[in-house]
Amino acid sequence: MSALQFDSVSVRYGETIALSAFTETVSSGEWLGLIGPNGAGKSTLLRAVVGLCTSTGTISIGSQTLAGRTDRERAALVALVPQAPVIPVDMTTRDYVLLGRSPHIGYFANESAHDRDVVDGVLARLDLEPFASRHLGELSGGEQQRIVIARALAQEAPVLLLDEPTSALDIGHQQQALELVERLRSEQGLTVVSAMHDLTLAGLYADRLVMLDGGEAVASGSATEVLRADLLEEHYRVHVTVRHEPDGVVVVIPRRRSSR
Ligand code: ADP
Repeated sequence: MSALQFDSVSVRYGETIALSAFTETVSSGEWLGLIGPNGAGKSTLLRAVVGLCTSTGTISIGSQTLAGRTDRERAALVALVPQAPVIPVDMTTRDYVLLGRSPHIGYFANESAHDRDVVDGVLARLDLEPFASRHLGELSGGEQQRIVIARALAQEAPVLLLDEPTSALDIGHQQQALELVERLRSEQGLTVVSAMHDLTLAGLYADRLVMLDGGEAVASGSATEVLRADLLEEHYRVHVTVRHEPDGVVVVIPRRRSSR
């Protein structure tokens, strides 16, 4: 089943065409990794899904087109971990993560025991219990980033969009967050689209990669097919070596152009 479908989706900011006729189908339970240089259109694509920028073409989840849906209806279908979220510094971690439950709570109702259980479960799985009563303003950038991921997971939408979700995290917490997303994908059939700068990590976790450049998809396929030195040099203007490990992992290693 196709979970998320883009049909000729374009976004323009004034004169800038940020995304040009993007067409792609992400299957239910699939993890699609978006890569590409700064300004390629990755964030724009993710923001278009949740209605944060105006797009043309069609975006649908399952059989439901997203156009014309209320924020609440969208939030039940898709959760976004944005690149630079607004952090309400006076809010506690628990209250912030509980905001993820909003689409499930009636307009004038309070959260249920189930909502609190979901929040507690996500806090536990991301090792965030010690921060539950702390104000967000007192936490480090990496701790805040994990809490933003927790809020999106508490939303329990079938489609999860991650925009550079681990950029502020140390290598251990990067792995913990990506492993949690992977577990939810394999156990609950979560469909994931992530924009990631770390190419090795993108190839390690995504089932399939799409490389964007100048608002267009310029390569698509497995990590082996997309993480090619020639493609990376052409679109990132970077000098790299690509290594293929015996277990199939594709490793992208930056190289100095100058000699020592
Ligand atoms: P990426 O996430 O791949 O770095 P973006 O989607 O953020 O790329 O940006 C794609 C293009 O759209 C870039 O040229 C960027 O400058 C432009 N852009 C992004 N957001 C805005 C905006 N709010 N107003 C005008 N131009 C924008």
